[in-house]
Amino acid sequence: MRQRYKPWADDFLLEHQDLIIQNPTEQKGRWQDLFASKQPLHLEVGTGKGQFLVGMAKQHPDINFIGMEVAKSVVVTAGEKALEAELDNLLLVHADANHLLDYFAQDEISTIYLNFSDPWPKNRHEKRRLTYTAFLKQYEHILQQEGELLFKTDNRGLFEYSLCSFSAFGMLLGEVNLDLHAEEDPLNVMTEYEEKFSAKGHPIYRCKAVFQR
Ligand code: SAM
Repeated sequence: MRQRYKPWADDFLLEHQDLIIQNPTEQKGRWQDLFASKQPLHLEVGTGKGQFLVGMAKQHPDINFIGMEVAKSVVVTAGEKALEAELDNLLLVHADANHLLDYFAQDEISTIYLNFSDPWPKNRHEKRRLTYTAFLKQYEHILQQEGELLFKTDNRGLFEYSLCSFSAFGMLLGEVNLDLHAEEDPLNVMTEYEEKFSAKGHPIYRCKAVFQR
């Protein structure tokens, strides 16, 4: 995602510390306390500018959503969207998903979304892909039993890599869709990237996977 320098970002983060959490290690095992209601907790990793997260939080008031984004200039844009939506079931976290085990306790999350994750096509960058084994190990730990991982992308290479990665890890694939937009799904909330790439005619791939424990 293109990042623009935003001179107001630090002030925004300071002003909205209740909405954009900067010290997630302090919340480990206690995320529910930050929400108005205790209800299932869903996490989007690499939330970008927040369109999916805000759309999902509006559509599912009975679920608490956390969006994690590493880029400061991007998470503040998601923060603006979230503020405008005035939702009490949504939080953002400005942090790097490489350290999920520091932020979330075992079984704390019931669903994880990966949407249009950076593909990192070069072999030497495999470890940066959010569907690489080291990330799957973390997702398995923080996800409740039968918790789901939902992955959408337009990148065929990343999709194929990820299916192999899930399978090699022993995950079960519940759904593999090679053209998500072929049929209208009123419940599908589009991300910024999904809108952009489907408008260009790219098919959108989605899969649902669960860990076997
Ligand atoms: N999910 C959004 C969408 O579909 O429109 C954004 C997709 S963008 C290609 C990927 C996003 O993931 C970027 O904003 C990037 O900063 C974020 N990201 C990449 N690696 C991350 C990590 N390790 N932890 C948190 N966010 C990450």
